[in-house]
Amino acid sequence: MAKIQMKNAIAELDGDEMTRVLWAVIKEKLLEPFVELKTEYYDLGLKNRDDTDDKVTYDSAAAIKRLKVGVKCATITSNAARMKEYNLKQLTRSPNGIIREELDGTVFRAPIFVKNIACSVTSWKKPIVLGRHAYGDVYKNCELKTDQPGKAELVFTGADGKEIRKTIQEMKGPGIIQGIHNLDSSIESFARCCFSYALDQKISVWLGTKDTISKTYDGNFKAIFQRVFDEEFKAKFDAAGIEYFYTLIDDAVARVMKSEGGFLWACKNYDGDVMSDMIASACGSLAMMTSILVSPNGEFEYEASHGTVQKHFYRYQAGEKTSTNPVALIFAWTGALAKRAELDGTPELAAFAKKLEKATLDTIESGVMTGDLARIAEPKASKVLNSWEFIDEIAKKL
Ligand code: NAP
Ligand code: MG
Repeated sequence: MAKIQMKNAIAELDGDEMTRVLWAVIKEKLLEPFVELKTEYYDLGLKNRDDTDDKVTYDSAAAIKRLKVGVKCATITSNAARMKEYNLKQLTRSPNGIIREELDGTVFRAPIFVKNIACSVTSWKKPIVLGRHAYGDVYKNCELKTDQPGKAELVFTGADGKEIRKTIQEMKGPGIIQGIHNLDSSIESFARCCFSYALDQKISVWLGTKDTISKTYDGNFKAIFQRVFDEEFKAKFDAAGIEYFYTLIDDAVARVMKSEGGFLWACKNYDGDVMSDMIASACGSLAMMTSILVSPNGEFEYEASHGTVQKHFYRYQAGEKTSTNPVALIFAWTGALAKRAELDGTPELAAFAKKLEKATLDTIESGVMTGDLARIAEPKASKVLNSWEFIDEIAKKL
């Protein structure tokens, strides 16, 4: 067969450890035999990020902006232990943090459903896509611990010099204080990303916050979402037969558990951090969860939700052919290729992405899978394979 041609390139962001190993196998066995891959390659392996003082990460973000589509492997976020392990000059920043910031993007996580892996929430029939606001709140906090009684205040000094001052608490003893913030512009972008993504997928949007308690802070999220929806999306949502639904965060959680799924759940930063892990674990395996970063300007980056699977990597280095699940990594590639095809108007490439996804799911549904899924599959797996054998099986089906 003649290889499928790509019109424009996608940004390819390579990563670390076990996912870097599988990345190369997926390209060699599932992509390159069929598609004349056009990518701009950036090595986001930890050592190279350290060597380039993160320049490679900023360059890759610029490439995603320019090309509109990127695909990213999992990467190590450095800490003290990693500094020693990789003999680093410095603690590099989280690449995902940098890219999110550069794109002003929102992360959408969606589970991949297969028939033989039951969801532990039995009412969920369709995937719940989770949209996490990836800016501010407790993730950009300023906090301190005091060793004596005193007055805690919130002070804002405007660019024009005007000061606003409020008492947080007259503290009767030692304690803790935290300051957090968010920006109207970021919340607006978040709302636009959510409504655009939902419209693209023809699914409704839910938002929950604690605006009864936090009338100003959370109330601002509620107000901005409503305004962006009314002004820019209401007519399009009506035409598509989908809706925007606001409720208190605790009511949202209760309703989510009883729902059928099939909607986008927009979450504030912390809620999204916590709830996405709950949804992932209810749906079986972290290895069956995809992650898409969408910018308000229509730039898309696809990746797996899981990390670099460090423990498997050490076993791999010791000579073991591990049974690490490559499904979310494969879906990162198919997501990126399908988006490229959509933007370029290349139906052959779109069809290939669909076929690769189908071959992957059909392989699992035929009873052939990796160890993480075999532990929870019903009926039981007929074959439990290592990653290389599993990818070969998908290639055969493809
Ligand atoms: P992890 O890589 O997600 O893996 C945690 C555990 O989940 C694994 O030990 C494994 O459990 C299971 N698992 C995850 N993905 C799997 C897969 N594809 N197949 C089978 N099992 C899978 O998280 P971590 O070990 O805490 O983090 C490792 C590194 O990844 C860290 O340096 C962290 O900074 C980085 N990280 C990167 C990203 C990203 O780039 N998006 C996200 C999260 C973490 P068993 O050991 O029980 O088999
Ligand atoms: Mg989390």
